[in-house]
Amino acid sequence: MKIKSVEIFRHDLPVKNGPYTMANAEVWALETTLVKLVADNGLVGWGETCPVGPTYAEAHARGAQSALQQMAPALIGAEALPLTVNRTMHGSLNGHNYAKAAIDIAVHDLIGKQHGVRVADLLGGVANNRLPSYYATGVGAPDDIARLAAEKSGQGYPRLQIKVGGRPVELDIETIRKVWEKVGGTGVRLAVDGNRGWTTRDALRVSRECPDIPFVMEQPCNRIEDLEKIRPQVQHAIYMDESGVDLATVIRAAGSGLVDGFGMKVTRIGGLQQMAAFRDICEACNLPHTCDDAWGGDIIAAACTHVAATVKPPLLEGVWLAEPMIETPYSRDNGVRIKDGHIDLPTGPGLGIDVNETLFGTPIAVY
Ligand SMILES: [Mg+2]
Repeated sequence: MKIKSVEIFRHDLPVKNGPYTMANAEVWALETTLVKLVADNGLVGWGETCPVGPTYAEAHARGAQSALQQMAPALIGAEALPLTVNRTMHGSLNGHNYAKAAIDIAVHDLIGKQHGVRVADLLGGVANNRLPSYYATGVGAPDDIARLAAEKSGQGYPRLQIKVGGRPVELDIETIRKVWEKVGGTGVRLAVDGNRGWTTRDALRVSRECPDIPFVMEQPCNRIEDLEKIRPQVQHAIYMDESGVDLATVIRAAGSGLVDGFGMKVTRIGGLQQMAAFRDICEACNLPHTCDDAWGGDIIAAACTHVAATVKPPLLEGVWLAEPMIETPYSRDNGVRIKDGHIDLPTGPGLGIDVNETLFGTPIAVY
């Protein structure tokens, strides 16, 4: 099966009850980029990438679209196989993993449809058909976040992620304490995510002042060197998220004992082929991790859920989807939804998503 054509679409995703606030970004609407691969046998595969605006990471929507247009001509006539396609992409563009991920996801969708199997089966086999999600609160007033945390815990989310940073650290400490007053003892697990926004001074202070609260400290500071600096001084487990930009960095962080786990995004690491390798590295080192994406609709949600289904269950921290904050699903069959804090793995072949492409309008480029 060879790739016959590549179509690239853009689509606006308004944030429901926006804005969504993080230490370094406030987003009201996001532009997602969709890729449609058509094979020479007529099958269609879909991929997606949706950076959370232009300041969250070294990625932005127009960058993805431009990178895809740079790579697309080299893909025409290529065998639709993940390793082949990834090497073809690397041969036509350096870097830009987040754009390559959209093609990689679409190739997995194609192969699954060709063989009548789910993407999760292609990635090694399903360990769990019902995946835990987690709720990320956004940065907000301590009482509001505590109320939201209690509400989401009550809805069945097994894990909560409290966003912090970008404001006086005293407010973050107050937020963490108030959240724990509400949900401590319920069995819900807690991550505190700085999204790179704390100084090492802030991270040390939070850990010192909250020794009784068992949270995971996710990407508190900006650089790997910052994590190295605080590592011997904090009492809390440290997870790497934004700094985990590629497999080489993951190997370094896991091998040196710098981190206790990862928040990982399918598009940041470059797609499902890379994500499966990441999963295996984590399992070899007994490190828990998430399977998330930055943002996006049903296609990226399905990709995250399929790879999460293959993770050894005790090591899966959860699957974060933007779904609760998105107005318009792409899928004709209700797609990927969070219910009672959990996500059911789609059952159809490939990603299992019946994409309603009429929503996307005319493609911005066709090859
Ligand atoms: Mg994070």
